[in-house]
Amino acid sequence: MTTIPGINIHVHMVDVDKHQIRVEAGVLLEKLNTEILPSYGLALSLLAAISEQTIAGAISTGTHGTGYNHGIMATKIVSLELLTGSGEVLQCSDSENPDVFNAALCGLGALGIILTVTIQCEPAFRLHEIQTSTTLDDVLDNLDSNVEGCEHFRFQWYPHTDMVSLSKVNRTEKRITETRSSWFWDKFVGYYALEFSFWLSLFVPSLVPWINRLFFLIFASLPKERVDISHKVFNFECLFKSHVTDWAIPR
Ligand SMILES: Cc1cc2nc3c(=O)[nH]c(=O)nc-3n(C[C@H](O)[C@H](O)[C@H](O)COP(=O)(O)OP(=O)(O)OC[C@H]3O[C@@H](n4cnc5c(N)ncnc54)[C@H](O)[C@@H]3O)c2cc1C
Repeated sequence: MTTIPGINIHVHMVDVDKHQIRVEAGVLLEKLNTEILPSYGLALSLLAAISEQTIAGAISTGTHGTGYNHGIMATKIVSLELLTGSGEVLQCSDSENPDVFNAALCGLGALGIILTVTIQCEPAFRLHEIQTSTTLDDVLDNLDSNVEGCEHFRFQWYPHTDMVSLSKVNRTEKRITETRSSWFWDKFVGYYALEFSFWLSLFVPSLVPWINRLFFLIFASLPKERVDISHKVFNFECLFKSHVTDWAIPR
């Protein structure tokens, strides 16, 4: 157990040479990103859109980020301790109880309670994101080169338009760029006005195409670029309550 004030309760072991850390399974990714890992010069190799989850919740649900050469978050788990229904604590890894280990990764809590996890991290890094827009046909026609042409590729289609916003992210040594935020555009227009417009569209569904076109024009049509520490680029604002479905599409 280490003794970093305020956070020692979560950290059981750190191997700085191997870039591995063992933490309590209930630790929030946010705490890992902003408090625990930076104090060892480490970072998670990939993240999902948010960091409000626990590490156990993220690995138990197959939580994923983006990246042609990256697996899901559970692929970064080196070992874990599992409290089974019989009260036994199992040490699980590729070499100890490997079947249980593989099942517990993405296990939805069905095998027991994960107590601690050892995570393969890497030295802290910065990411360079370039956001552009194009047509849906262009993205789909060039999907392979887009996906393989950068470390992390993401696109969002705006229904009722044929336009998409693209995000291409790569590691960089460049300096962190300053971000200018505007309460009016980011919060008032980009959050409250958008949510209110969608609420209105519940009563007037024909508004939806206009809302999508307008918000694409305001927020996604112009190119943007930034450099920041990894978790700030991996995570993005999911705005208000949304309904999401994930699909794996064979190529
Ligand atoms: C706004 C938002 C954005 C998201 N974005 C993404 C994304 O980009 N990519 C993606 O893949 N997912 C995404 N998710 C899904 C999210 O990563 C998962 O729902 C995650 O499981 C939530 O973690 P949690 O800590 O809330 O877990 P919970 O919801 O509490 O639990 C999830 C599952 O894990 C099990 N579990 C939790 N703790 C333990 C434990 N200690 N031992 C054993 N089992 C345990 C539970 O039994 C349950 O089956 C998103 C979710 C939200 C709300």
